[in-house]
Amino acid sequence: MRLKPWQIIVVGVLILAVVISFFFFTRPNPAPLKRLVEKPEFQNGSEYGNWLKGEILPGKGFEDSILAADGFDLRQAMGVVNALRGEVDFRRLKAGQSFKILMSPDGKQIVKFVFQPDMITRHSLVWNREKKDFDYKLTVFPTTKRIRLVEGSIDTTLNQALKDRGDVSNHVRNIANGVLECMVNFRRYARKGDQYQLLVQDRIYKGEIVEPSLVLYAAYRGKRTGFHEGFRYEDGKEGSVWTGHYNKEGKALVHSSLRYPLNRIHVTSTFGWRRHPVTGRKSFHHGVDFRARNGTPVFAVAKGRVVRAGFSKLDGNMVVLKHMDGTRTYYLHLSRILVGKGRLVSAHQEIALSGRTGRVTAAHLHFGIKSARGKWLNPLNVRMIAAAKLSKKKLARFRNQVEEITTKLNHELFLLHRFPDGSVGVTASLPRK
Ligand SMILES: [Zn+2]
Repeated sequence: MRLKPWQIIVVGVLILAVVISFFFFTRPNPAPLKRLVEKPEFQNGSEYGNWLKGEILPGKGFEDSILAADGFDLRQAMGVVNALRGEVDFRRLKAGQSFKILMSPDGKQIVKFVFQPDMITRHSLVWNREKKDFDYKLTVFPTTKRIRLVEGSIDTTLNQALKDRGDVSNHVRNIANGVLECMVNFRRYARKGDQYQLLVQDRIYKGEIVEPSLVLYAAYRGKRTGFHEGFRYEDGKEGSVWTGHYNKEGKALVHSSLRYPLNRIHVTSTFGWRRHPVTGRKSFHHGVDFRARNGTPVFAVAKGRVVRAGFSKLDGNMVVLKHMDGTRTYYLHLSRILVGKGRLVSAHQEIALSGRTGRVTAAHLHFGIKSARGKWLNPLNVRMIAAAKLSKKKLARFRNQVEEITTKLNHELFLLHRFPDGSVGVTASLPRK
């Protein structure tokens, strides 16, 4: 019997289906994801044998994460912890960071321990038999710097625009938002079509970004907001409190979370003329009232000195802070004061508990800001509270860095020219604007 062409096709498809399903079903299951601790596997040719892999467990330190691996006792775990103390900042351990351990053949001694908190940093411990202690070694793999321009326009918020891009990490997004929030009241004035521009410096290792990236420059241009820009200043010394973002005049752009005296902000009465809730008369309200249950922690909005801590009939228990630039902040109607007069407090330090002391109808926090010249300001419009300013020497250093950053920015803009029709092209002849 001769098969017709369509029968050949059907048979062919059937055979193909059988072959494909054979491969599909007989393929070994995908290996389970390496979680927590990998079962020891023997490595031929290794001096000792078994490398054990582990990772920092959520909410745990080295000790518990090592103990979670089979066959380790507290003595061994503590040996590693003690050897790394002073070399690794234990407070910055993050779940998922990996380590590996090599045991002696009798399983009694850790002979090698390697901790790799990120792609480029490696802390190694090697057991020294004579010293009966670990030798420590730090290896940092060299990275290359990469500058990139991140720009676009917003639909709803800057935060959302940066989130939607996919090429901006949470870290960069938070910094850019924090810096620009100091100068722009997004909630009131952000409009669709407003533009942002960031200059980001990445560190690259084997083609991948090693976080955290730096935000060298952040700018915002909006219909209602006008143009604002902030620059990153590097103070030189590691961990210097002065390293951060500043406006062109050298005024610090402090992250927004430090600007408010409460963790949750809900305004119950705004700044300005109002009918007084108790007297019923028209009076000027020299601050804002925030909703706060009795006993809610109250924080200093910036670093400063306590110039008043006491009671008055109208204001109740109150704290007044004087900040580095002469601004004063007022916290009234407190139930408890936690700082004494003359004391220096840091930004976001808990200074009191809110309450309903003085002339009030209900518990709340009254918060006021007075400028160095003695003028009451609307706290909701103050974008930078008592911001530290760079001093002469630091300011000169900052100005140099602003120039360097501007050069880098102009170079990027020169390479990536946005034409009026929105297309992107490389140009050597068209300067921007
Ligand atoms: Zn008030």
